[in-house]
Amino acid sequence: MLLADHTSLRVGGPAAAAAQATDEAMLVASVQQADEAGTPVLVLGGGSNLLIADSGFPGLVVQAGVRGIHRQDIGDLVFVTAACGEPWDAFVAGCLDAGAHGLEALSGIPGLVGATPIQNVGAYGVEVGSLIATVRVWDRREGVQRDLSPQECAFAYRSSIFKQQPDRWVVLAVTFALARAGRSRIDHDQLAEVLGLAVGDTALPSGVRESVLRLRRSKGMVLEDADRDTWSAGSFFTNPIVSEQVAAGLPAGCPRYLAQGGVKLSAAWLIQAAGIERGFGLNERAQVSGKHALALTNRGGATAEDIVALARAVRGAVRGRFGVTLQPEVRLVGCSLD
Ligand SMILES: Cc1cc2nc3c(=O)[nH]c(=O)nc-3n(C[C@H](O)[C@H](O)[C@H](O)COP(=O)(O)OP(=O)(O)OC[C@H]3O[C@@H](n4cnc5c(N)ncnc54)[C@H](O)[C@@H]3O)c2cc1C
Repeated sequence: MLLADHTSLRVGGPAAAAAQATDEAMLVASVQQADEAGTPVLVLGGGSNLLIADSGFPGLVVQAGVRGIHRQDIGDLVFVTAACGEPWDAFVAGCLDAGAHGLEALSGIPGLVGATPIQNVGAYGVEVGSLIATVRVWDRREGVQRDLSPQECAFAYRSSIFKQQPDRWVVLAVTFALARAGRSRIDHDQLAEVLGLAVGDTALPSGVRESVLRLRRSKGMVLEDADRDTWSAGSFFTNPIVSEQVAAGLPAGCPRYLAQGGVKLSAAWLIQAAGIERGFGLNERAQVSGKHALALTNRGGATAEDIVALARAVRGAVRGRFGVTLQPEVRLVGCSLD
């Protein structure tokens, strides 16, 4: 199995071994057998948040292909459980069609349901952790299946216990607590603007989905084969959270937001202010997206090394200009920016 065929960046060498798990028992058994044999394991969803080395993965790559959706209505809430292999955006659309809302701002994010708790995916003012009731996992360390509460998942900005301990957890299914019908609150300035509303106003969930998809397409943030600006892993770096002292030393025009643990900066702003323009590249194969400064893209024929070299150049420019070190949001497998 060539991993470049299974990642949205379209890079990555071969997997030493591969398995496709279409039910929970199969997924757990493949991981358990590999663990007992001391074989490294990589759980693969849609491959949209991975940068895998050109040398590939020296172990078992298990594709989490378990499908199934179950709904239970309790009071005003709709609890929807989706197996890890359900495609995320189709799941979001299906929930809206079934009159369960809350996920609409997360429309258009590529990948599968099982990966959404890993980095607590977020967009347009909503983080998935705020809508999760439980995550059913296989705990590889303890050899047991467990249902984790959101508190146990330790959701934070682009982080969770799953991201902190990448070799411990297999997400089997996720249960979301959604609202029955009603309107969605708009918590993002750009989204409010395209809807002609103010932050804090409400809108029809279907209208929010349409506007989010339109906004995302304009930034190359919806996967489209024909658009090389989308041959990426989305935002390559997280927005850095720095101390107030560091934030105070940055130029007046630098956007800053109060966040847990300090002041959150815009990585895209820092990159552009450090002189890295959209379309910047060290060669023709790997370039910053023409639509979004935070996305590193494969223009055709790029290797993982090309993407790593580009990421180092972007990170070096920001560090040189502002003294802030950008951290990758993407999971790097077998390669490093250091
Ligand atoms: C164009 C584009 C736009 C994007 N926009 C956003 C955005 O707006 N917001 C955002 O947060 N992200 C965004 N992303 C990143 C990415 O889509 C999300 O992180 C997504 O949830 C990854 O899903 P996946 O199934 O592709 O995961 P993969 O890339 O296959 O895996 C990502 C990580 O999760 C682990 N993993 C996957 N499934 C499981 C499982 N069942 N159990 C345990 N571990 C698992 C993998 O081992 C890996 O470490 C974007 C990416 C692209 C390409």
